[in-house]
Amino acid sequence: MSHPGVPVSGGPPTGLQAQNGAPSASGSPYANGPVQNALMSSHMSVSQGYNSQLPGSYPHLIPAKTSSPLCGQSNYGGSQGSGQTFNRPPVALNPVTPSLHSGPVPRMPLPNSQNPAAAPMPSGNFLPGANPPPPPPSNWQYNYPSTGSQTNHCPPGAQPTVSGNTNLTTNHPYVSSGDSSHQNSFIKSGITSNANNGSMVVHSNYDEIEGGGFLATSQLTNKNPKMSRSVGYAYPSLPPGYQNTTPPSGTGMPPSSLNYPSGPQAFTQTPLGANHLTASMSGLSLHPEGLRVINLLQERNMLPSTPLKPPVPNLHEDIQKLNCNPELFRCTLTSIPQTQALLNKAKLPLGLLLHPFKDLVQLPVVTSNTIVRCRSCRTYINPFVSFLDQRRWKCNLCYRVNDVPEEFMYNPLTRVYGEPHRRPEVQNATIEFMAPSEYMFLTGEYMLSWLPGNTRTKIGFITFDSTIHFYSLQEGLSQPQMLIVSDIEDVFVPMPENLLVNLNESKELVQDLLKTLPQMFTKTLETQSALGPALQAAFKLMSPTGGRMSVFQTQLPTLGVGALKPREEPSQRSSAKEIHLTPSTDFYKKLALDCSGQQVAVDLFLLSGQYSDLASLGCISRYSAGSVYYYPSYHHQHNPVQVQKLQKELQRYLTRKIGFEAVMRIRCTKGLSIHTFHGNFFVRSTDLLSLPNVNPDAGYAVQMSVEESLTDTQLVSFQSALLYTSSKGERRIRVHTLCLPVVATLNEVFLGADVQAISGLLANMAVDRSVSASLSDARDALVNAVIDSLAAYRSLVLSNQQPGLMVPFSLRLFPLFVLALLKQKSFQTGTNARLDERIFAMCQVKNQPLVHLMLTTHPNLYRVDNLSDEGALNINDRTIPQPPILQLSVEKLSRDGAFLLDAGSVFMLWIGKNCAQNFLCQVLGVQNYASIPQPMTDLPELDTPESARTIAFISWLREQRPFFPVLYVIRDESPMKASFLQNMVEDRTESALSYYEFLLHIQQQVNK
Ligand SMILES: [Zn+2]
Repeated sequence: MSHPGVPVSGGPPTGLQAQNGAPSASGSPYANGPVQNALMSSHMSVSQGYNSQLPGSYPHLIPAKTSSPLCGQSNYGGSQGSGQTFNRPPVALNPVTPSLHSGPVPRMPLPNSQNPAAAPMPSGNFLPGANPPPPPPSNWQYNYPSTGSQTNHCPPGAQPTVSGNTNLTTNHPYVSSGDSSHQNSFIKSGITSNANNGSMVVHSNYDEIEGGGFLATSQLTNKNPKMSRSVGYAYPSLPPGYQNTTPPSGTGMPPSSLNYPSGPQAFTQTPLGANHLTASMSGLSLHPEGLRVINLLQERNMLPSTPLKPPVPNLHEDIQKLNCNPELFRCTLTSIPQTQALLNKAKLPLGLLLHPFKDLVQLPVVTSNTIVRCRSCRTYINPFVSFLDQRRWKCNLCYRVNDVPEEFMYNPLTRVYGEPHRRPEVQNATIEFMAPSEYMFLTGEYMLSWLPGNTRTKIGFITFDSTIHFYSLQEGLSQPQMLIVSDIEDVFVPMPENLLVNLNESKELVQDLLKTLPQMFTKTLETQSALGPALQAAFKLMSPTGGRMSVFQTQLPTLGVGALKPREEPSQRSSAKEIHLTPSTDFYKKLALDCSGQQVAVDLFLLSGQYSDLASLGCISRYSAGSVYYYPSYHHQHNPVQVQKLQKELQRYLTRKIGFEAVMRIRCTKGLSIHTFHGNFFVRSTDLLSLPNVNPDAGYAVQMSVEESLTDTQLVSFQSALLYTSSKGERRIRVHTLCLPVVATLNEVFLGADVQAISGLLANMAVDRSVSASLSDARDALVNAVIDSLAAYRSLVLSNQQPGLMVPFSLRLFPLFVLALLKQKSFQTGTNARLDERIFAMCQVKNQPLVHLMLTTHPNLYRVDNLSDEGALNINDRTIPQPPILQLSVEKLSRDGAFLLDAGSVFMLWIGKNCAQNFLCQVLGVQNYASIPQPMTDLPELDTPESARTIAFISWLREQRPFFPVLYVIRDESPMKASFLQNMVEDRTESALSYYEFLLHIQQQVNK
């Protein structure tokens, strides 16, 4: 293990173990346990299991790496050997400490979370587990026990690249394109002083930014003379003489000064006091339709013909117009029950669905030396705080009254002094902060050493079979040099400094290698795969810098650590029991946690026709915040559709925005508590998610409970803060704030239910349940979720008991969506779904933004053989037909038509046997039905209006998501027809109820 180039890790300072390894509240194992760095000390037993303490890898989460050689972390990776010093910004957990550059600091205990899939779960519905996570709300049926709960699943996501925050006002100078590289900062300010309110000025390391503590004070800056404040322009346009203004003394302010003049887009900043709110409460903004009670047995076709819109929270319009776009941040209940007891009565899950790094067309970016945050809970100032007067604001999460920093008194947009309430930070629920230069200090140093010469991208290649092949790409070589390491038991990295090279400097060599690689192994007879050792090697290579590891795998790994055995039994595919959803080894998880600790995310591309144990392999991405892509039956010649899909997805993957070294924290108003996280990440401290990489296609979900009564509160807020390093090396913080009303009655809770968000959260919970208990258990829990909530509605809200299945308008699609989930690949039974495909579907549930998850669960069906321009959209001179969405039932299909099914990542165009000749000729370009080629995966561009309309519609759908959905044109005899029909979720199948039967079943249970 000790090779000259790769010093052996000294292991963790022992003192850290105790802190990290603190057992969770439930006494359950820390799933997290990146047990030892398996790489660095390969003799260490891997069988330590998840109970092991969290040791080794975490020291490097701590600031120390940059600095103190004493802290025992200077020897990670090969950096010493290579003579390069890679500095990494400190990533610490602890509350701010005065000294930035001292060695390890005390850390917060790790979460009792992030369990591996291993822990057993009680069965039942989403029942009160044996030991629910932190706050154990008693009857809370949606609480998982802490085990299993924070388990994260893998995979790729997808989402539109279009729209931005609708709350943004377009023409502001500070509003710029979503591409951070072009975002102009609207403030070039930099009043340096903060003498009076220094405590609100937050400087930079992770700790100060997202650490749990407060008081990131100005003393920090003084500690290190190098961190001099280099920016210091004054506001050139401050009204002269403002300094002579007597500073308002707060309490003594005349009432009149509270009424800030309201501008065009102003939030009339009357404090959000009781009067204001009472008014808003009574002004129920719900459409009368929303108050209807529906008997689903009589009116079951409730699917709207246009995409379902999220409910609008019942807030005063002045508040609502500033609220966060639901595409970014959404809550299952748009009216928050004021007590846990009320929430328990509703039997609906409370949680958030986030798409925090979505590509935005417009994103306000603020550059300021002063990032104003609450002194107590560190919430970023946002549209829902209240100003007591010009000089004081009250935090909407913890209610602490904070001072308004002098700098914040000036509004750079209007160039007016004395209107802090009109600053962009208080006008936008979604905003991004660019760290001011002093704030950049730490990362700056790191970036420079990482990327000499200011060209950033470094790249390296490793291939493997039964041995591991490295490629030296050092500038000056005439061609890439292959280095073979055959000792896979104890992998070392030869010449690490030549293997990860600057892309710009070695571009030709890289191109050479890419050209020759495909030919190099065509004659090989090798069938072994030493994936585990190769991953270890790659980890060693990358740990000094962090970054992104892209792994392409085509079979089960068979050699060395991480070798796997086939365990899929086709006879059990359709059964809900005894299927292998849990990893068979903890190797991939441990390595992922090591990677996470070194800011490396691992993305897995699995291209395989055979079982490859994605349940085990996927862990490498799940815990390192990576993505999983899966191409079943991939064949480069015989499966052109998969090839096209891979090409398009790889292109998106390589070119999409990427945030490095990210952490995300979600805060909520006092009284609420966040406990279970879903997505790909590692939970570093109780609520700090570690994301070595964050990408715009990833979604996250969290579950919440009401810990303390909210009876004195009329509004609650949720704020997510995502701190990341852009690919240009800028430190940025993207903040989203969502504000929702608190309600006291069960009826209001139901009226505000967001059925898509509820279904999405339940799907996430059901994946956990499948893994920790069983698939049948998860299915039962899904069904019970519908029964319990509708029974609660019937017995507690409806006064007169009528026959039928009565549901509130907000939940009219709840049974349908749950039925669709039961038939979704993740949870279906009675089909021949391959295990890896099921696992992949589960990964997607956990990692997709809600809108995409809903499409894969309940696809949109359109009739397209009669598209017209009636009601069409006009975008940039393009006419895009808008056919109505149809119910997913064969009743809606007809043999004389053509129907397009949009299932998110795949489009299926089913052509009826008697489809009009016109459509066949003008759109498909064929003479008759029999001559539709099979397979057909593309529509010809014909010079006909019918062709133009069809192609415009399909292209428009594709443009709304980042990944390219492939298209299958399906004839009746096509083997794909079964897949198409499987999406008809309202219909009965051999093993599943029809929608109507399902409703009858629910009704029976509800009326019991
Ligand atoms: Zn606060």
